[in-house]
Amino acid sequence: MADIIQLLPDNIANQIAAGEVIQRPASAVKELLENAADAGATEISLVITDAGKALIQVIDNGKGMSETDARMAFERHATSKIRNIEDLFRIKTMGFRGEALASIAAVAQVAMKTRRAEDELGTYIEIENSFAIKQEVCAGTPGTSISMKNLFFNVPARRNFLKSNAAETRHIVEEFIRVAMAFPSVFFSMKSNGQEVFHLEAGSLKQRIVQILGSSYNAKLVSVHEETDYMNIYGFVGKPETARKTRGDQYFFVNNRFIKSAYLNHAVNTAFDEMIAKDSFPSYVLYIDLDPSQIDINVHPTKQEIKFEDEKIIYAFVQAAVKHALAQFSIAPSLDFTLNAEIQGLDAVSKPFTTDKRDAAVASSLFQTFTQKNQAHFIEKSDKSELKHWKEFYEGAKPGVGNPEPGNRQQLQTLHILPDTALLQLHHTYIIASTNSGFLLVHQQLAHERVLYERFSIAGHGQQMATQKSLFPATLELAGADASLLTDLLPDLQTIGYQVEPFGNNSFVIQGIPADVLPGNEKHSIELLIEQFKHFSSDIKFSKREKLVRCMARQQAIKAGQTLSQKEMLVLVEDLFTCSSPNITPTGSPTYLEFKEDYLDRMFGR
Ligand code: ADP
Ligand code: MG
Repeated sequence: MADIIQLLPDNIANQIAAGEVIQRPASAVKELLENAADAGATEISLVITDAGKALIQVIDNGKGMSETDARMAFERHATSKIRNIEDLFRIKTMGFRGEALASIAAVAQVAMKTRRAEDELGTYIEIENSFAIKQEVCAGTPGTSISMKNLFFNVPARRNFLKSNAAETRHIVEEFIRVAMAFPSVFFSMKSNGQEVFHLEAGSLKQRIVQILGSSYNAKLVSVHEETDYMNIYGFVGKPETARKTRGDQYFFVNNRFIKSAYLNHAVNTAFDEMIAKDSFPSYVLYIDLDPSQIDINVHPTKQEIKFEDEKIIYAFVQAAVKHALAQFSIAPSLDFTLNAEIQGLDAVSKPFTTDKRDAAVASSLFQTFTQKNQAHFIEKSDKSELKHWKEFYEGAKPGVGNPEPGNRQQLQTLHILPDTALLQLHHTYIIASTNSGFLLVHQQLAHERVLYERFSIAGHGQQMATQKSLFPATLELAGADASLLTDLLPDLQTIGYQVEPFGNNSFVIQGIPADVLPGNEKHSIELLIEQFKHFSSDIKFSKREKLVRCMARQQAIKAGQTLSQKEMLVLVEDLFTCSSPNITPTGSPTYLEFKEDYLDRMFGR
């Protein structure tokens, strides 16, 4: 019997292979746009007719191809982007498999015109069924224009599989958007049946996102930005109000490549946790950059899925970065400074915080976790030594509590918080702590306000607060009146840890911020401070510095509604009871209530 195995002719092999890469017009659009981006184009135009079924054309002003490369480009596995297997783990380009043009040439009638800037003339080439049917020199501007007509003209079964024009156009727009979002500094346009549907001027990332998602997003984006040695993440998440009932505007890019990842999507969703309804989806456009050796892009023919070397790290990082961004955004101004006149006479307001207490406060892990740069989210697991510390604290400090009676703490009963019982957070606002004679209901925001107030007050008495230098000093431009107010406040701002320098023309450079302020938030925190200060400034009872300290404490306190870990709660309660007046805020609200056993017994008629 004769041997029966034969090699498939190239054009048939290409047609079969094309099925993986080019499933529909949108896949061809993606490949052509990515090639244009890889060629370094600064202007890319897409033209489609009949949802890409009749024509898809991509015109770029990128680096073009030589005459030989122009013909080579359509060969299967022909690529200029990798040379050996190691390159596969150094990929910075969108393409690398060298299959797209070969696939397209197998299933459509392709014409390409290309010219390199250094050549006088370009190349025109026509391809059908994988064969060059025409090639000649031509004139033209530098760059490449590829048009493909009658997709699947030679594979009727595939052509019949295509959906309605509306559906196929939707797919194309999706792919167009993904590429346009990845390259905000490139101009993109898209024409469908002669009508321009996108015209995206080159600009910033935020501009690009707003151009695409709509201007209603302009004021609703929260910036995400974290950098580490291992990876960077940047981009935006929509404020909780932009969450939708349908999975809509969710975009993840890894090294500029749009990817689908249910896993990372989950990380973002959980970061929004209690902030949006259970059945709704947050919007986000997030970019992760990391060493290409840490990912494998080559696990999927259209490269929309990738494998991470260490998925868990990426998950934790994404979640933490989004949480951090959301926490910064929720530092909302609160302008109600109703002052209780009695309060000003209190020790806490008028007397310095002792050095001992300050040292204890600064050593506390809440202080440290909140001051580690970009690590506000990083809370270590609780350990035993901390618990021991906690016990000593209470037995040593024996702070007074009870019916909060300001200024009277010497007379109050000794209190023992039970060190070995877990703390409980209620409504993300209250902390329940067991004592030897009942329990305390601590208001997390008000308690933290007290803690910060005393910490900032030290600075008000001669010692300067710790400053963290800004890596990228932000500039602040203010209206005339605000600028002179800020100038006025500069010396006092310095004592509480701000390093702000005048920069002429009502502008200032923020060189450093207090160790307690989350980095990335410096501008906002100063603007808020000025705003709050103005509301305060008719109040002559307080010195400038006192007003500043109060504003700062109010502004930087952990907010109600924020989930706290055991450790964070522990440290907060611990810090509170090292305060000289733990039981009230600077403005006189109670920071906690005590429920004593005998009171509880009475309530239950025992
Ligand atoms: P890949 O992008 O994976 O390398 P393609 O089949 O998409 O494979 O393209 C093959 C080669 O053709 C590319 O490596 C590149 O050198 C060249 N090429 C394709 N499109 C363009 C373009 N628009 N401008 C310049 N060169 C291009
Ligand atoms: Mg390509």
